[in-house]
Amino acid sequence: MTETTAQAGSSFGFEIEQSLRSGSTRGKNTGRNLGRMGIITTPHGEIRTPAFIPVGTKAVVKGLLPAKVRELGGQAVLANAYHLFLQPGSEILDRAGGLAKFMNWHGPTFTDSGGFQVMSLGVGHKKTLSMTEAKHSEAEVIATKKERLAKVDEDGVTFKSFLNGDTHRFTPEVSMRVQHEIGADIIFAFDELTTLMNSREYQEASVQRTARWAKRCLDEHARQTIARADRPYQALFGVIQGAQHEDLRRFAASDLAQMRGEEHPEQQFDGFGLGGAIEKQRLGEIVSWMTDELPDNKPRHLLGISEPDDLFLGIAAGADTFDCVAPSRQARGGTMYSRDGRVNAKNAIHKTRFEPLEIGCDCYTCENYDAAYLHHLFKSKEMSASTLATIHNERFVVRLVDEIRESILNDTFVELREETLHRYYGREYAREVIARAG
Ligand SMILES: [Zn+2]
Repeated sequence: MTETTAQAGSSFGFEIEQSLRSGSTRGKNTGRNLGRMGIITTPHGEIRTPAFIPVGTKAVVKGLLPAKVRELGGQAVLANAYHLFLQPGSEILDRAGGLAKFMNWHGPTFTDSGGFQVMSLGVGHKKTLSMTEAKHSEAEVIATKKERLAKVDEDGVTFKSFLNGDTHRFTPEVSMRVQHEIGADIIFAFDELTTLMNSREYQEASVQRTARWAKRCLDEHARQTIARADRPYQALFGVIQGAQHEDLRRFAASDLAQMRGEEHPEQQFDGFGLGGAIEKQRLGEIVSWMTDELPDNKPRHLLGISEPDDLFLGIAAGADTFDCVAPSRQARGGTMYSRDGRVNAKNAIHKTRFEPLEIGCDCYTCENYDAAYLHHLFKSKEMSASTLATIHNERFVVRLVDEIRESILNDTFVELREETLHRYYGREYAREVIARAG
């Protein structure tokens, strides 16, 4: 099955090369297999999917030069519109010729809309949303009005800069303008991210508001695209919310799939972000509700995922690209991935290990350094510790997703999933994940 889509006159497209033949989550409405491999085409190059996209929040993958990101197999970089808006300012990136040129990255780029940070700030300046389960009580997360740095209303969000306390206003139109100035190949509609602990009533209201914002994003995106016709085409992804509610997720997905601009009815979404609060235990199921409602011929990005179990479930359920800060953040703390689970390079066991941290790993770090040296760098707090550990972790996740891609082509997805999860988590948890995949 081959499908191609592209906006007239644009250089953005998506082609499916192969769909999963076995072991895939099946759509409830259609009975079709959802997992697939394909190629996203952007003005700055192609992304072979499924693909893990390293995060470069502030136009840099922390600790790594772009050449290393490329060398470890990174196909694209995802930056953060909100952070770049505050510092150095989106107009600086515009004058530099866009995000890719500014950071000397010769490949595709993404920016998220800032919605995620607005939510994070709204719940007391927490940067990450626990995907597993609420570690914080509802009162702690929701009822922190006096601490809230962000306030949501119908028109947009007002928030205080965490850098200097200045007040800024983000609306769908501001988010589109900022993301056009930053100039990433794939940008996201401005959405409100809720938590698993918001009430059903609030989730409903939020999904409806996000839909109204999405329409405004389509129109402003069309205006910016026309006004900046000399710039490379930027693809706009709508973001699907709805937390743990099947009806809200399905409604949001089908609504965004057919949505057109009000003033610019020719403008539709080029792809979709699968967003927000997703219970880890139900990830495959929740992703499949959304992909079941979406057209096959547009790419889907699952935000904030890098764990092996989540990747297998997300890919089987039809997600194409993934990003997450965890591989680099954990690397900086000494936590490194291996096929047999996580290890900490600071652990005394590595002090006299004169062999690669992960035997058989093809990354620059493992090919050139022993675990004992990494241990030494971490213990002596050298900058290179973060760099070498980040190279390994990013390579680990990028390579795993590339292997899953190959397995879709070779029809060995089920075998790869069993072997990988068994080694990484142990037999019992691997069985549980496979059972969840159905
Ligand atoms: Zn390695």
